[in-house]
Amino acid sequence: MVLKIYNTLSRQKEEFKPIKDKEVGMYTCGPTVYNFAHVGNMRTYIFEDILKRVLTYNYYKVKHVMNITDVGHLTGDRDMGEDKIEKESKKENKGAYEIAEFYTAKFKEDLNSLNIIYPDIFCKATDNIKEQIEMIKTLEEKHFTYKTSDGIYFDTSKVADYTKLSHQNIEALREGARVDINNEKKNYTDFALWKFSQKDSNRQMEWDSPWGIGFPGWHIECSAMSVKYLGSHFDIHCGGVDFIDLHHTNELAQTEAATGVKPWVNYWIHGEFLNIKEGEKMAKSTGNFLTIKSEFIDKDISPLVYRFATFGVHYRKQMEWNNDVIKGAMNGYHNLIGKVKILGNKIGVVNNELKDRFLESINDDLNMPKALAVVSEVFKYGIPNEDKLATILDFDKVLGLELYNLQEDIIPSEISKLAEERLEARKNKDWTKSDSIRDRIKSLGYEIKDVESNYSLTKI
Ligand code: AMP
Ligand code: ZN
Repeated sequence: MVLKIYNTLSRQKEEFKPIKDKEVGMYTCGPTVYNFAHVGNMRTYIFEDILKRVLTYNYYKVKHVMNITDVGHLTGDRDMGEDKIEKESKKENKGAYEIAEFYTAKFKEDLNSLNIIYPDIFCKATDNIKEQIEMIKTLEEKHFTYKTSDGIYFDTSKVADYTKLSHQNIEALREGARVDINNEKKNYTDFALWKFSQKDSNRQMEWDSPWGIGFPGWHIECSAMSVKYLGSHFDIHCGGVDFIDLHHTNELAQTEAATGVKPWVNYWIHGEFLNIKEGEKMAKSTGNFLTIKSEFIDKDISPLVYRFATFGVHYRKQMEWNNDVIKGAMNGYHNLIGKVKILGNKIGVVNNELKDRFLESINDDLNMPKALAVVSEVFKYGIPNEDKLATILDFDKVLGLELYNLQEDIIPSEISKLAEERLEARKNKDWTKSDSIRDRIKSLGYEIKDVESNYSLTKI
């Protein structure tokens, strides 16, 4: 079945066609590790996890790379302000590397609690300074850079299609030049590739480079590391919508300029925001943020309730955070668990009609609200409980709600199959075959007992 996905580049839903036959390269921008991730951030990572699971469900092999920003992301947009990690290091009176390590570990805990599958490669900006310097050198050789008193900048006027991702009006953007504080920049949209350490800054994270001691600008890490791990042309690049105008636009301009390969990425896929109050985005910098720990773990609520809650709103629509949403999700999630539990522990066969409907929903630009409706239908469908369970567990490969853990004594399908074969053999009075299957079942760790004209299975 065709997978359709909305591409920010074309502003259209497109049929997904990978570069290589069944392999997909996917890069997702990771966290800046100067603080805990908030529930808004986690909405984006859940959406990306669903995308990856949907690709896998469609039999694609996904190579997923995620960066960890541990240097160079400044407090102000457009390369102004302090480095977020260094700032936090002073505030907490800890080393910058210690800060980054601590919040990276906390981020991974959040991923675990939400059952988000880890990327194949986590890569830290500070581990890839050499690659970033190499890319800046290439840009310099190709005359895309210039020097100011505080760093090496990318000249965006050299790129004709600079706004092809954001679809912004370049003239309107240049108007911004009037209010830009950095008057050494040639164009308002130009951005730092390398920043010089200031004499009085006492930076902990700094490196030597052909241009002097300093540190990379925020955007260059994603360009350098994605090319390193996925090549100069790959399939998917994701993030939240706030990355479109600045971070992704700059990544795109400098990567295509450096490699000369166009397009760098075929599908740009962005998730909408979680708002704390109507229309107000949740952001680390404004301090109005809530975490998985504060809102779920500390309140003894499973974080999977949040995962479930995000399925109720399409990823390209804004989601509001409020008590009603979470209460509704709690009811919905527990209701689902209750229904799965009473299906028993025998796994039958996946119902193809339901599977097709589920697939149709997720393949229609990850329509999770529609997919949830198909999940509800399973319980009402006129099929045996064991087939309902098989179908639900199959859907859970995408949902990731850990529904397979609910049955205390679930019987693997291989064992059920052998048990059925043995039942058949007994019906045919083939005692030799029946005994040999019993031994085989035992060797796999299960005991089969005859119960009237049926059987029971228990784990040894
Ligand atoms: P950051 O750690 O701020 O660099 O952001 C990490 C990811 O979270 C990025 O993909 C952002 O686009 C995304 N993000 C930031 N704030 C929100 C929000 N309120 N809702 C959804 N995603 C967000
Ligand atoms: Zn990035």
